[in-house]
Amino acid sequence: MITIPKGTKDVLPKDSYKWHRVYDIIAVLRDQYHLKEIMTPTFEHTELFERGVGDGSDIVRKEMYTFLDKGNRSLTLKPEGTAGVARSFIENNLDNDILPIKMYYVTPCFRYERPQAGRLREHHQFGVEIYGSDSVLADVEAISIAYQFYVRMGIQPTVELNTLGCEHCRANYIDALKKYYAQHLDAMCPDCQDRFKKNPLRILDCKVPSCKEITKNAPVVRDYVCEDCKTKFDTILKLLDTMHIPYKINDRLVRGIDYYTNLVFEFIDEDKKLGQNALGAGGRYNNLIAELGGKSVPVVGFGIGIERILLYLENKGIALPEDITVDYFVVSVIDDMQYTLQTVQKLRNQGYNVDFDLLSRSLKAQFKYANKIGSKYVIVIGQDEYESGVLTVKNMENHEEKKMTLEEIVRK
Ligand SMILES: [Zn+2]
Ligand SMILES: [Zn+2]
Repeated sequence: MITIPKGTKDVLPKDSYKWHRVYDIIAVLRDQYHLKEIMTPTFEHTELFERGVGDGSDIVRKEMYTFLDKGNRSLTLKPEGTAGVARSFIENNLDNDILPIKMYYVTPCFRYERPQAGRLREHHQFGVEIYGSDSVLADVEAISIAYQFYVRMGIQPTVELNTLGCEHCRANYIDALKKYYAQHLDAMCPDCQDRFKKNPLRILDCKVPSCKEITKNAPVVRDYVCEDCKTKFDTILKLLDTMHIPYKINDRLVRGIDYYTNLVFEFIDEDKKLGQNALGAGGRYNNLIAELGGKSVPVVGFGIGIERILLYLENKGIALPEDITVDYFVVSVIDDMQYTLQTVQKLRNQGYNVDFDLLSRSLKAQFKYANKIGSKYVIVIGQDEYESGVLTVKNMENHEEKKMTLEEIVRK
């Protein structure tokens, strides 16, 4: 038997309604928030992620699915959604289009991780990217879109946020961090010793207990940011109050990707019983487009892992509404297949959800099947019905039977 590759997952027919719920909510948000979908390829040139995500990040250093194609080009299955959108924005000169623009995507992402609960080698992300505004209004708009997504899924998260400062004040903070960690370097994990050289900010994120202990007393970024960055951050907090979005400042939040500047945020469940992990995350990346060779365009965005959200709902016992069921199941025991098909077709053309027997089974077997799939009504076409044109309609819930012509059923 050929089995599924490690770290991947099938979505079986009995579970796919959960995904439909996710897509339905995204479609509503698309209309209500005026989002435009962008679709980019599943693989890109490896260099895009090295430059866009950052070659010091864990993703690029350890987790990418990189391969040479038959033309000897190094390609990578996208590990996240942002870099591809940025590449497309630059390549297609979208900065000449109407700005700001709010784009969204739903995309598979690939990371070579040790498979464990909630971490897959292929997962799917819903992401939003707002291009062309450096205003805190765009920051709050991004956070509200994500927040509304959760609320409509039945989740009440808290947003944790932090500022990393702008390109000017951030340097002061990194200096302070370096000074602090230099005294503790020997006691830190090998990864952090490496981070110390490449990007000391990332040490704040380390989950190794000894590093966490040292980080407890590390300098706090808000003591180092400039007046402008501080005002911006405070305004965001005020606007979140206005929007009734629960938040918490988290001084240690930096996010594991190189491109963030100023605002970073994560959505978490306050009762941490269920998970250590964020339900989604994002931030502002004003330098990304310029770093990838485009003009300087401010961007704020977020990504939400869909599998993680569904797992969270399952653990929490939150059920999602199932797909719409069948209105009419046509039970037919006559030989005239044309008559049966025409009946089914007329009902479908009137907008009903209709199914019928594909195996020419007995009346009893067809009823059993209709019951199993949860059809609301059954229409019976036996020899009498066929000859008279008056069909038997059975309500599967209260078992009431009525005699009606097809025209009467359709007019109902
Ligand atoms: Zn600043
Ligand atoms: Zn460490």
